[in-house]
Amino acid sequence: MKDLLKLDLYLKKWEIPFKEEEVLAPYTTIKIGGPCLRMIFPQNIRDLVNLLNLLEKENLSYFILGGGSNLLVGDRGFKGVVINLRNFKGIEVIEKEKSKLRVKVLAGTLVNRIIGFTFKEGFSGLEFLVGVPATLGGAIRMNAGAFHQSVSEVVKKVELYQKGEIKVVSSSSNLWGYRWFKEEGVILSAELEFVKEEKEKIWTKMQNYIERRKKTQPFLEKTFGSVFKNPPCCYAGWFIEACGLKGYKVGRAKISEKHANFIVNLGGAKAEDVLELIRKAQEEVYLRFQTFLEPEVKFLGCSL
Ligand SMILES: Cc1cc2nc3c(=O)[nH]c(=O)nc-3n(C[C@H](O)[C@H](O)[C@H](O)COP(=O)(O)OP(=O)(O)OC[C@H]3O[C@@H](n4cnc5c(N)ncnc54)[C@H](O)[C@@H]3O)c2cc1C
Repeated sequence: MKDLLKLDLYLKKWEIPFKEEEVLAPYTTIKIGGPCLRMIFPQNIRDLVNLLNLLEKENLSYFILGGGSNLLVGDRGFKGVVINLRNFKGIEVIEKEKSKLRVKVLAGTLVNRIIGFTFKEGFSGLEFLVGVPATLGGAIRMNAGAFHQSVSEVVKKVELYQKGEIKVVSSSSNLWGYRWFKEEGVILSAELEFVKEEKEKIWTKMQNYIERRKKTQPFLEKTFGSVFKNPPCCYAGWFIEACGLKGYKVGRAKISEKHANFIVNLGGAKAEDVLELIRKAQEEVYLRFQTFLEPEVKFLGCSL
């Protein structure tokens, strides 16, 4: 508590916006989760880095929140500090040539905003994520991907905070894998490179991706995207569907009828309902196929 008072004083002194006992549900796409002790909204690198230094010095546990689109927060919330990066955003053009565009983007910038920006400039690269409510930091941490493409393909450099130091790493294939980025720490910004493309072609591509998602996923409902990573052999959704679990409900949470690797909050679902569904899917798939489904979703203040 003494440390929290020190933190509050610091935030007031440096005029960094924050909220006390803020409920996390509205900040997640599945709209579930209790309060955190403090939610802090840094707006620039100096404030963010100084804040991280202080939290680490005072041994206060913290969590970095992007778009909250791959996150399940426990019903009792998180007894720590949440750093919400929604105001930590911005796109700066570094280099613009005929065939390519290089930009530096702050980690809290929404991926959709980047796609809109590059579309206006007539450059292409991230359209496969159009409509996905992720921030750049979250998309890099998860190496978000779809339609056989992933964020790693446009990332050239990543700026990170690691234990009091700021470090810039150049992207290379050994840093990325299926839904992971190897470097630990807080992602501050990244340099991304896009290629020239006719605007009409970019537009058509985006329309097609959105249509495909709407057809096959509960894209506009309250979800956190894929529940499980796909095992090497086949799709996680296929296993869950084969166990007859499409439409299976616990409380107000349901395994989507459209896509079995999505859980939908029907309104008023609890984290416990979702956890039970995740356990159920894991157990049934293991019993029937001896395949362990590893969660893709991240947990805060709860666990399986
Ligand atoms: C409708 C819908 C569709 C989706 N479709 C896809 C898809 O096609 N492909 C796909 O891969 N995912 C998809 N997702 C899941 C999700 O959007 C991605 O995993 C995304 O990368 C999460 O980004 P976020 O900013 O929301 O991160 P959050 O959910 O806020 O956080 C996820 C993790 O990243 C960490 N993190 C966030 N920002 C930073 C940072 N700056 N530095 C360090 N760590 C950070 C968090 O601490 C947490 O561990 C979808 C989700 C929804 C709701």
